[in-house]
Amino acid sequence: MSTPTLVMLKSDQPRGQLMDASQPLIMIEDQGLTRGDGVFETMLAANRKVRKFPAHYARLASSARLLDLPLPSQEGLQAALDLALEAADPGPQTLLGEEHTVKIIISRGTPHEGPHSWVTVSGSPASILKQREEGVKALLLPRGHDPAQDSAYPWLLAGAKTLSYAVNMSVLRHVRSQGADDAIWVTEDRRILEGATSSVIMARFEGDKKVLYTPEPSHGILPGTTQGAIFAGARKAGWELGYGPLYPQDLLQADALWLASSVRLLAPVTHLNGTPLAQDRALTQELMGYLAQG
Ligand code: PLP
Repeated sequence: MSTPTLVMLKSDQPRGQLMDASQPLIMIEDQGLTRGDGVFETMLAANRKVRKFPAHYARLASSARLLDLPLPSQEGLQAALDLALEAADPGPQTLLGEEHTVKIIISRGTPHEGPHSWVTVSGSPASILKQREEGVKALLLPRGHDPAQDSAYPWLLAGAKTLSYAVNMSVLRHVRSQGADDAIWVTEDRRILEGATSSVIMARFEGDKKVLYTPEPSHGILPGTTQGAIFAGARKAGWELGYGPLYPQDLLQADALWLASSVRLLAPVTHLNGTPLAQDRALTQELMGYLAQG
């Protein structure tokens, strides 16, 4: 894998400075590293332009506020992103054009130097592009507790996109050991939450109504920018929108089910707990169209 293009932001470099990512740049006591104490955004750039940047910036601002971390200005961050994207190695060509995965990280930094942020850009991984085409096999797995209960306690950081993704990565290793690709979390009472790194979207045709459903985004799960953009476009196109609650039986009876996130876009769920699900390629294209408007 090639080294990502890196731009670091500092108080005296608010628009960022291009750095050599193959060099040691993070201190061993950086608390983003030692405690997962920081926030991030993962975004998709098509033809070297970040898609839905305002939505990502708004979520980054909300995450930073919850963790009491300083937020780079939108203008400074945009300049840093432009600098990194201009310098990046070529990315894969897809229907969207040239694709790159872009990350923004704000770390607590060292106790001595304090918080800092950086931006990385690398070509979108082939494994993710494949999921758009071939779909994913998903397993329903318990979340252990209902994250909606965390919402009342700001120190539990519900809805913040923190660097502490060890559990999200662990569940992916677990599903892969079971021959599946992804996980969908459920509460103890079997209510659907979200994927390990994605939002759940379901389509259902109810008489002459067409309805898109997703679990209520403000109830302890991450509000997905991809789900938000798709729902905004779908509403304009006459879809009705529903926000759950959804249960396993709803997903099994769906007319189509997807995992949605910024780099994956829409991955159709082909199997749920081993049961084949209905597939609708035309519908996936339709929803991709709404996403392109966002
Ligand atoms: N939920 C979780 C837990 C995620 O990690 C992600 C993205 O990484 C999403 C949902 C989807 O968010 P977005 O569509 O903004 O990429």
